[in-house]
Amino acid sequence: MKKIAAIILVFTVILSGCHSPSTSGVNEKQNQKKKAPPKEKVLSKEEIEKEQDLAKSDFDKMIQAVDKNDKEQFLSFQNDADKLFYKEQDAWLLGVKQKRREGWTVSEVINDITVTSQSKGSIELQVNMKRKDETYKNRITYPIVKVDGRWKINDLPFKKKIDGPIHFYYLPTLQWEAESVYKDVEKLIDVYKEQFIWEPKEVNIKLYDSLEALSASVPWESLYGVSTPISLKFFVEKPYTDITFSLMKHEVVHSMLVELSNDNAPNFMQEGLAMFISDAIKKEPSGTITFNLDGASTERENIILKNIKKFKPISQLNMNYTENAEDIYGLGYLVTNYLITTYGMDKYLEMLNELKKEATIDSENENKEQIIFKRAINAMEKTYGPINKLSKAYAEYFNKKKQEIKE
Ligand SMILES: [Zn+2]
Repeated sequence: MKKIAAIILVFTVILSGCHSPSTSGVNEKQNQKKKAPPKEKVLSKEEIEKEQDLAKSDFDKMIQAVDKNDKEQFLSFQNDADKLFYKEQDAWLLGVKQKRREGWTVSEVINDITVTSQSKGSIELQVNMKRKDETYKNRITYPIVKVDGRWKINDLPFKKKIDGPIHFYYLPTLQWEAESVYKDVEKLIDVYKEQFIWEPKEVNIKLYDSLEALSASVPWESLYGVSTPISLKFFVEKPYTDITFSLMKHEVVHSMLVELSNDNAPNFMQEGLAMFISDAIKKEPSGTITFNLDGASTERENIILKNIKKFKPISQLNMNYTENAEDIYGLGYLVTNYLITTYGMDKYLEMLNELKKEATIDSENENKEQIIFKRAINAMEKTYGPINKLSKAYAEYFNKKKQEIKE
């Protein structure tokens, strides 16, 4: 999974863990109550309580499935009528597995179940994540529906707009902001299409009105924006600001790179390219979006150079998002910057073409990251020459620059 924008924003993300906007869950619940269909038989208080107990004991099995990472059992609680949501929930459980591998303790608990009729209600879930002295609790309230006698989870009540490859979803509370976000996303994708000869297949974009709900839906500690293999998700603040735009220009690169490499770009390449390229995107006061690489990345380069202590050989970059952010973001950025600045964008795209020749690896494959990493090293060698030479060259290039900053 490809996470979060600029290294500066990474810090924002880490810091944001301690503040938790708690209004969204309540709002969602109120919305659902308002929407309860009047046609169904009105249940008595006792009947509702009984139904709630039944739903609770049903969903307890889903919680057990999360503990055991039982995919089949977990997915049996997700409404497969919504194909996109079903795929996202599948990826959610994989995300839990990945987080556990990175050293997190992850659990899900049911905070509340409300049944409003024979076939509708809502469930408030809380995703707990713990690692060393870090603790996160993110809540999300999903609608639930009874399908063929079984309670299932539905996605949040997104409104939908489809135009060509862009599948755009937003929560009703964001109607006003969604219009501006949509215009920007459309222009942004047009710029990337033109610059990188990219023909997007399907770009799913979802706008959330709560940081907690977005984070819980991934799952991740605390997130303003994310690119998952299924969709791009953003937390949109009111009013819509450049923070969201900065995340969008970064995350869309991830989607593009997945397609340009047939999902064969490792983390460091993903984050490196997303940071390097998104720096070239500017939004003019008129709303026009421009792309210009010249000098666009100097500021970020300086910040990273000041913080990086060692220019590791490329083949030794680590890939754990929790523990190796410096390798993935910092060095990933420098390697990408070096390759494109020194050899040009066309050559870089040639390298991506090498990666594109490889088959996509199933996300369930536990060795996916390692295999992709190897493929990337091979593609780099084929395009730029021996990897050790390349590692030395980039280290020399930035050592010199680091000295210049100090002087
Ligand atoms: Zn990213």
